Amino acid sequence: MQIRAKYVSSHTELNLCPKDGRPEFAFIGRSNVGKSSLINTICQQKDMARVSQTPGKTQTLNFYDVNEKWYLVDLPGYGYARTSKKNRAAFGAMITDYLADREELFCAFLLIDSNISPQKIDLEFIEFLGEYGVPFVIAFTKIDRLTKTQLKNNIDAFNAALSETWETLPQQFLTSAQYRNGREEMLTFIDETLKS
Ligand code: GDP
Repeated sequence: MQIRAKYVSSHTELNLCPKDGRPEFAFIGRSNVGKSSLINTICQQKDMARVSQTPGKTQTLNFYDVNEKWYLVDLPGYGYARTSKKNRAAFGAMITDYLADREELFCAFLLIDSNISPQKIDLEFIEFLGEYGVPFVIAFTKIDRLTKTQLKNNIDAFNAALSETWETLPQQFLTSAQYRNGREEMLTFIDETLKS
């Protein structure tokens, strides 16, 4: 699917974000999960989102216009601090304020590294999304690094952990920024969400 994407603006405060009411799809995940790479692949632009942002740099909500119809919102990565404190403290005020309060947010893509075992901070983040009623789907990243069996085992383990608190599992996408897996599926999902 061809899309036209361009960088619009970066913000540190929710009340300074675009006000034109366009639907937003947010991308969020632990630092190093592969978020910048996936956004670049979705937008078909090499340097759209900066790959490997330096830890500790000013964190911003980055807005990209897609087809002059919706915004892709790149949220700061969470989890540098390795804290087990919940919500605001653990994930950052900007992320939590955006997810809890932003009316334009249609759906969040929560990125989960398919290469590792279920991480406490990701599971806590999902609890937070649930508490605030944020609609979300999961995108497993870097699937190209695994064999099919390894991938299945890791996803099964993640879903088993999720099933402890969730009755129904969220929709899931298998992605690789390298080989563009999942790109069409995610864009089709966004298109259908916009139509519904
Ligand atoms: P971010 O911190 O979440 O924005 O993650 P980055 O996009 O900077 O990626 C972190 C590291 O994972 C980088 O070294 C990327 O090259 C690598 N990476 C990201 N996506 C993929 C992928 O789909 N496949 C593989 N093999 N490596 C990836």
